[in-house]
Amino acid sequence: MTMSSSRHASIRAESESPASQASSVLSTLNSDGSRRWMKPRPSDGRFVRARRAVAWLLIVVFTVIPYIKVGGAPLLLLDIPTRRFTVFGVTFLPYDTLLLALLMLSIFVTVFLVTSMLGRVWCGWGCPQTVYMEFVFRPIERFFDGVPGRAKRGSFVGSGGATFLKFVAYFLVACFLAHTFLAYFVGVERLLQWVTQSPLKHPTGFFVMALTTALMLFDFGFFREQVCLVACPYGRFQSVMFDRRSLIVTYDPKRGEPRGKGRKGDLSLNVLRGDCVDCGLCVATCPTGIDIRNGLQMECVHCAQCIDACDAVMTKLGKPRGLIRYGSQAQLAGEHPRVLRPRVVIYSSILAVLVTALVTLLVNRTAANVLVLRARGAPFVAVSETETGNNVRVKVTNRTTRTAEYSVSISGPEGAHLRADESAMVVDPVQSKELSVMLVVPNAAFERGRAEVTVTISGPDGFDERVPFRMVGPGSMHAAAKHDEHDEHVKEHSDDDH
Ligand code: SF4
Ligand code: SF4
Repeated sequence: MTMSSSRHASIRAESESPASQASSVLSTLNSDGSRRWMKPRPSDGRFVRARRAVAWLLIVVFTVIPYIKVGGAPLLLLDIPTRRFTVFGVTFLPYDTLLLALLMLSIFVTVFLVTSMLGRVWCGWGCPQTVYMEFVFRPIERFFDGVPGRAKRGSFVGSGGATFLKFVAYFLVACFLAHTFLAYFVGVERLLQWVTQSPLKHPTGFFVMALTTALMLFDFGFFREQVCLVACPYGRFQSVMFDRRSLIVTYDPKRGEPRGKGRKGDLSLNVLRGDCVDCGLCVATCPTGIDIRNGLQMECVHCAQCIDACDAVMTKLGKPRGLIRYGSQAQLAGEHPRVLRPRVVIYSSILAVLVTALVTLLVNRTAANVLVLRARGAPFVAVSETETGNNVRVKVTNRTTRTAEYSVSISGPEGAHLRADESAMVVDPVQSKELSVMLVVPNAAFERGRAEVTVTISGPDGFDERVPFRMVGPGSMHAAAKHDEHDEHVKEHSDDDH
């Protein structure tokens, strides 16, 4: 590789820092404790091109998800005020604690499994922090401030006016992202309605959007890589998820050391040197400012930029690529790669159990949740000299994405019937409604003050839920009635029951 001494000096200036000193606490701190601003040199190569393609695919997916419907329901909607979460068109209600817990556990175990096999592939390729920082905000910064390691284009680049425009561009992108983010919580229809109205009509939504915009500006304009280094818990967790065979970005010291620049004509010395010419490009391109040649470090987000930088150097030197590469500590030590390891088997087994339970519960979910609750007040009333009634509330939650009508009927002892103004109700999609009815049976049906009946709730598509209910009536002890007040005959047709 031909490289002028001045260029060498500039690269070294960027790469040499307190970060490379053994005494450094954090790669982004100067020795006096001040912030060391990262201005990573861009590296072109196969990994950055692949990451750019993945990043833009993810950005498009993140932007369009709120607009996508599955069977009339949003693909993803996190309605926090009503505690209804729609995932892939399936709405989870507050009753669905077990389903939500299984879903969250499955996600966590998937992260464990993927990390144990592929290292921090999420950090380097899929995390929104990396995706937006490296492929949206960093290119904007380079456009207005100039590209590190390259000559500035014109006098405007890097000027005060350019800095102002850079922050205007940051603001516009952050504002757009905040609106997209808000759409995940309020739905795209409501968001589109809000943006055409005065903020005073929806102050909470406007406040959330403004706060999110401000947080994004703070993050991508100022905090940046500090999120990965000091704020993100995943970076801290990785050490317990890794083993020697996890895929990581590694430097091959056997091939690279002893590092150093060869001298022209000094063949004996050059033969002894490793392939690393100590150019510092792998450090200069690192967005977290570390030197991968020091081994696996918590700050490494496995973005592979150092691989591209080093591959370019090796290509120029006419040496094989891969001095820095994806690999594992075991591979570097000459051990055979092994995919099936105890932790991979354990994580996979746990994940299989969780997913099986989740799918089983989802498949067996009923189209509605039904509750039959004893109404407040007197436990029973004399309807006539020969009949006794119990007031109950029938609550139906329509889980489907269509408006549905549900009717209530009673069966049991001969003469059992309903007394109500209405025995049917129309329930909107993913909404709940209550109907008050009186269950009436002949006095003769009561044995020791109790009569067993069945309340049936019927709906569309053959929905038919039969709920046993114990009525109280003449002959019941007052105490028994009291007891039964607490013994609400509730049947929750949730997935838990299946
Ligand atoms: S590892 Fe590669 S990029 Fe890094 S200093 Fe050595 S030769 Fe340069
Ligand atoms: S060491 Fe390499 S892979 Fe790790 S963060 Fe720096 S550039 Fe990315």
